[in-house]
Amino acid sequence: MGKIKFFSGEDIPLEMHKVRIVQKLELAPIEQRVKYMQEAGNNTFLLNNRDVFMDMLTDSGVNAMSDNQLSAMMIADDSYAGSETFTRLEKTLQELFGTKYFLPAHQGRACENIISQVFVKEGSVVPMNYHFTTTKAHIVINGGSIEEIVIDEGIEVTSSHPFKGNMDIDKLKEVIARNGKEKIAYVRMEAGTNLIGGQPFSLENLQDVRKVCDENGLMLVFDASLLSDNLYFMKEREEQCKSMSIEEITKKIMALCDITYFSARKLGFARGGGICTNSKDLYMKMREYITLYEGFLTYGGMSVREMEALRVGLNESMDEHIINQGPLFIEYMVNELDKKGIPVITPAGGLGCHLDAMRFVDHIPQAEYPAGALASALYIVSGVRGMERGTMSEQREDDGTEVFSNMELLRLAMPRRVFTLSQVKYAIDRIEWLYKNRKLIGGLKFVEEPKTLRFFFGRLDPTSNWQDELVKAFRKDFPDSL
Ligand SMILES: *Cc1c(COP(=O)(O)O)cnc(C)c1O
Repeated sequence: MGKIKFFSGEDIPLEMHKVRIVQKLELAPIEQRVKYMQEAGNNTFLLNNRDVFMDMLTDSGVNAMSDNQLSAMMIADDSYAGSETFTRLEKTLQELFGTKYFLPAHQGRACENIISQVFVKEGSVVPMNYHFTTTKAHIVINGGSIEEIVIDEGIEVTSSHPFKGNMDIDKLKEVIARNGKEKIAYVRMEAGTNLIGGQPFSLENLQDVRKVCDENGLMLVFDASLLSDNLYFMKEREEQCKSMSIEEITKKIMALCDITYFSARKLGFARGGGICTNSKDLYMKMREYITLYEGFLTYGGMSVREMEALRVGLNESMDEHIINQGPLFIEYMVNELDKKGIPVITPAGGLGCHLDAMRFVDHIPQAEYPAGALASALYIVSGVRGMERGTMSEQREDDGTEVFSNMELLRLAMPRRVFTLSQVKYAIDRIEWLYKNRKLIGGLKFVEEPKTLRFFFGRLDPTSNWQDELVKAFRKDFPDSL
């Protein structure tokens, strides 16, 4: 069963939950928002959440919990070793994933640290559909390198391919032949490919990747952080998955992989993470690193309350009417913007809606950070906070040369079960206003530029007084609105 159809023919997503605890939001007037943005150095990471109306920065650790998750937190068994809570979580993972062993960790990148330390050596190569920032960093720190071999459609801004996160099988064979299989630490597949717009891979593609791994005696490692969205898209778009339940698809995926890890800040509406495997040998290789870096084997850096919430959240992730909420809201937002001619990444993926700043503000040169400027402008006109995914997120070469990103995106993440449709409509409305007034948006320049991770901590100034002009234009159209 897909989404609920309306008699009127209107095509809107319907929330399959009701709100029982709420948090009040503030929407400051635009004159104040422009000050907040300037105080934050035009960097949305440096805004105070109190000054943000819709926080669409990320879906990490900000998804709403259910009544069942909150009540499960009260029965958490707090003990250093041998906690009942751990046993319950381990059992849930065995039941849902069909994997025997579970190593808990405090979040997704902690799993990546351990997997990389154990399996990546100096000169190792890790082929993957696409990298995630922390994944790549851990592989590189351990002396390895990555090869991104997503299909060509994966990095096209507009496409109708249903599985833009698929791995190119011919390129995988080529990478193995070129490097020699002994150089390959493992092959990595990422669900709901984060950095290319939350795009899924198909079960068929994973089966093909497995075949190549088997032919070459290679291990397949699966990043399941964005599994829920990927499951939803498999069931919606893939013939062999249509008659399967979400749980059946999950078990099929897990059976194809040697190691599965996840960030529970994304998967399971909780916080934390973990590594699952069916191999005692692989489990034993990684086990001591958990106690070294994370905590004892029965908590791994997580609070037991979060572990109970995760246990319930993982069960909820097997319910199609729960995991479809994010993708349906994103699809609604993407399609509405697309209909209005506003440049967005298509088709809609998971994670969020991605505005294409390269086209939105095509008058801003890449050296003046179009996606960063768009993020600043959108906050000023709406109180909506997004995340720059473009040149600002890159790092300069050692000689100071700017590295231009091949996409300039403003990511508007959709935290799960958090926003209502009218809030999403508000965001669409303000984006439409901004698009009509896009020529007013100008560029940004760094005034404080850290060498690494400049997108987190850097501060920028507008290249002209364009922000004042934007406020004036807004006030002309909305004389007495917030
Ligand atoms: C978020 C994320 C991670 C890292 O997880 P954290 O919990 O933030 O450390 C790894 N892989 C993917 C695909 C992610 O989206």
